[in-house]
Amino acid sequence: MTVARFWRDISSRYNLYGTKCAACDRIYFPVRQICPECRRSSIGKMERYKLSGKGKVYSFSVVHDAPPQMSVIRPYAVAIVEMEEGVKVTGQLVDVDLEDIDIGMSVEAVLRKIGDEGPDGVINYGFKFTPRLD
Ligand SMILES: [Zn+2]
Repeated sequence: MTVARFWRDISSRYNLYGTKCAACDRIYFPVRQICPECRRSSIGKMERYKLSGKGKVYSFSVVHDAPPQMSVIRPYAVAIVEMEEGVKVTGQLVDVDLEDIDIGMSVEAVLRKIGDEGPDGVINYGFKFTPRLD
């Protein structure tokens, strides 16, 4: 991985960025290079767009069969969250009892540790979702 690629990945992982098509104002997540609606006319018009981090649970499932490195937190819930901007983002739901999770529940993205320190000494962080009081 090149240094530039590394920092691009960090940027989109630590900030919930999608892209906005300046031609039609549609917002996309994850980042797209070309707007599927505008196609050729969107080339060079895709702008970085920071999502608010707020959304509602669109659907979710409880995962019982987690990979070994996640054994301490299983079972856990993974949700598809419909963000205020209309895009859907998949992420783990934290700080909530599994039986309290409902479709339509208000949540917001929080930056959390995702895994333990790997062999390269890097601790991975990423976005998870936590309940939000309206
Ligand atoms: Zn467009």
